[in-house]
Amino acid sequence: MAVSRDACPVCRGTESVKLYPDYTGRCITTQMLYCEGIELDNRNCATCGFTWNAKGLRHAQEVMFDTGVQKPKPQIMSFGKDVKPLQQRTLEAFMALHEFPEQGSLLDFGAGNGSFLRYFHQVFPAWKLSGLEPKDDFFELTADLPLEHACNRPYYECGIDGVFDMVIVMSVLEHVPDPLGALRWIHDRLKPGGALLMRHPNFAHLPGDLVCADHINKMTVPHTRQLVQHAGFEVLKEDDSSMLFYFVLQKADGPLRPLPDCHEETLAVARRCEHIAERTIAAVDQCVRSARSRNGKAAVFGTSPIGSMAHLMLDCKDDVVCFVDENANTWGRDIDGIPVVGPHGMAELGVSDLALAISPLYWENVARKMAPYGVEVHVPQLEPCGTGADNA
Ligand SMILES: [Zn+2]
Repeated sequence: MAVSRDACPVCRGTESVKLYPDYTGRCITTQMLYCEGIELDNRNCATCGFTWNAKGLRHAQEVMFDTGVQKPKPQIMSFGKDVKPLQQRTLEAFMALHEFPEQGSLLDFGAGNGSFLRYFHQVFPAWKLSGLEPKDDFFELTADLPLEHACNRPYYECGIDGVFDMVIVMSVLEHVPDPLGALRWIHDRLKPGGALLMRHPNFAHLPGDLVCADHINKMTVPHTRQLVQHAGFEVLKEDDSSMLFYFVLQKADGPLRPLPDCHEETLAVARRCEHIAERTIAAVDQCVRSARSRNGKAAVFGTSPIGSMAHLMLDCKDDVVCFVDENANTWGRDIDGIPVVGPHGMAELGVSDLALAISPLYWENVARKMAPYGVEVHVPQLEPCGTGADNA
């Protein structure tokens, strides 16, 4: 189907508001790998309110499914050792919202290497499991898991003809060029009254998603609620108390509901996110200028996409002597050839100025913790009405 590249991927509306930033070049994925020649073209649809990147990796499915590009760097992605594994936290979050029968049939839509299904199988051994995964992770998924159906293709090329009691979708729709098409594909493969469990990153808390190559859809709670109803689901439960939001949905009968307009609500979220992203990059710029003026060295605190993109967007790689992170698993690694060190490593590298490129939730706390290291901490400065910290 020929669709204008600028049309909204959900409602096909062609009127949209352009969002920060204007950028083409080397760009990072949320798996912390760089792709070349990526254009960021973020938009908010004036018709339905969806926020998306019209470019990024949207038209590069082969790159999206290339495990060599998308493979996580465990040293960068891993979190503190006291934190429960994500698959365990995810199942616990779903079990708090939904009563799982002792048996049934489950399709994991975007099953990765099977870490969730493997854990689910321990907790609910009588369930019949199926998974689809277009990447090479599939071979790890199928190595030791008994699966009823398994497909190593994008969903729209998967001839899975079974119908399931439950489909689970975890951090997938933000990568899929046609999220409505994906939801309808799932709808067709659920039994009447079947359950769809979803977990997605909440764009409202992740302004840095504006500068990553692969989160081509910026999922928000209000728009996703409208989207799933439009695709034929009823929302039973929601939990948006963390950076990730969880929905428990039921396949509904009857005609599809029209897609209502939540443009004002989602545009407000997008505007707040772009303001935070823009001020974060500005803080790195100010940090670099300050370091230059005193013959010192600049550093960036945080190794998320926004921190990892700042030196590229500002074209100042030579000015950034290191990244600083409190997570010891990242120390000794590098991002784009720039070393990652702990706070104690700043003195040896001569760091005089440090910019915070992290969620606004942590600005105050981290600025306080960095003060004893004798560096000037550059905290992003928000306009009074655009503060991210008060309702994040
Ligand atoms: Zn739209």
